[in-house]
Amino acid sequence: MSSSPLFYQAGPAMPEVSHGRGVYLWDTDGKEYLDGCSGAISCNLGHHHDGIRDAMLAQLDRVAFTYRTQFENAPAMALAEELVTMTNRDLEKVFFVSSGSESVESAIKLARQYFVARGESHRRHFVSLRPSYHGSTLGALGVTGYQPLEAPFADITQASIKVPGPDFYRHTEGDDDAHIRKVLRETRERIDSAGSESIIAVVLEPVGGASTGARMVSQAYLEGIRKLCDEIGCLLIFDEVLSGVGRTGTWFAYQHWGVAPDLLTTAKGLGAGYYPVGALLCREDIVDTVMANGGFQHGHTYAGNPLACATGLAAVEAIRNEKLLDNVVARGQQVREGLEALKARYDFVGDVRGIGLLWGVELVMDPATRSPFPAEANLFASVTALAKEEGLLIYPRRTLDGLAGDHFLISPPLNISEQEITILLERLTRALQ
Ligand code: PMP
Repeated sequence: MSSSPLFYQAGPAMPEVSHGRGVYLWDTDGKEYLDGCSGAISCNLGHHHDGIRDAMLAQLDRVAFTYRTQFENAPAMALAEELVTMTNRDLEKVFFVSSGSESVESAIKLARQYFVARGESHRRHFVSLRPSYHGSTLGALGVTGYQPLEAPFADITQASIKVPGPDFYRHTEGDDDAHIRKVLRETRERIDSAGSESIIAVVLEPVGGASTGARMVSQAYLEGIRKLCDEIGCLLIFDEVLSGVGRTGTWFAYQHWGVAPDLLTTAKGLGAGYYPVGALLCREDIVDTVMANGGFQHGHTYAGNPLACATGLAAVEAIRNEKLLDNVVARGQQVREGLEALKARYDFVGDVRGIGLLWGVELVMDPATRSPFPAEANLFASVTALAKEEGLLIYPRRTLDGLAGDHFLISPPLNISEQEITILLERLTRALQ
């Protein structure tokens, strides 16, 4: 038999999907899986959601695609209004795209064009964290801090200045405040040595995703970074491709700390797995400056089309109408308690961190030294396979800049029930056993 023409990544053979309902998926052999990671943290309303299905069918009956330079379309206008409202008008302009990488790429290019328009073409550098993940296109890869992804392209990307982010699990400073002071000091030093007048923006995820295993920031850190950006006159970009649109229990994760960015990228949950929808949200004066100087030299064919935006609108409405932000907070507490119990029970569960329904579990060989398992052990892959056998999907990665360490994300759909979380935790426990 000839092999499939599809190629993605080397890995074990996969079952073929049959169908999905709510938080469950079934393969063609009839095996059931609880989707504990919402696909790629994208199917935030589970599978086969009636409201989204109906909204998409209604839009398909009207028109699926029109091009943004030829027609306005009502779903795009309505979704843009929604997004601005979701930020409490911290950001007032919206540029639609079709993926997370495209939203980061757009942020990079808009930020650069803003400074060119202001006669500050000498600003050429971005600052971002290591580890981090911001996307697979070359611009987004340039600000990504994840060694195996960067390595083949190091010579052809414009790599950003990489600085360490907060690491409340492994730092050795004694207390968290001292750690944050050190991280901010190091960030400032790296920026000063590159020349602070050359910086366009600092890019970071308020809550880390797959690359860090939901590493958290803190109030003092975000305030420190905001102050630093203001002092050197550069922009602050939050990548909420993964953490946005309700995932952490607020519309956007930054709202937990009340430190607003100048630009924000989002995608994944915005299309809820039904259609690719991404967006760049911007401070109005930045957009005004760019638009008054020849306009934004950037765009993607499928961006902001009526079907995409009708899907995004239905996803946002479902989160609001079904009061899912409240559900995320309540179910998040349940997940936290369940994961903490696993940490107490198993030495190799080193750290449990997260917020809302975005949780990272880091596995270590020795909880005292926090030393990782050897990379060759491929523990993250084995745990994922064991969970799958138990009928649970989790999202694995390497912890330490992609080179070693193991973690996985628990990030089920935002509409998961109390009973379904109990099942998720039971299956996870069996996998870890
Ligand atoms: N930024 C973050 C924080 C992400 O988690 C991802 C996807 N994992 C991206 C950007 C890229 O998004 P996409 O895969 O939709 O291009």
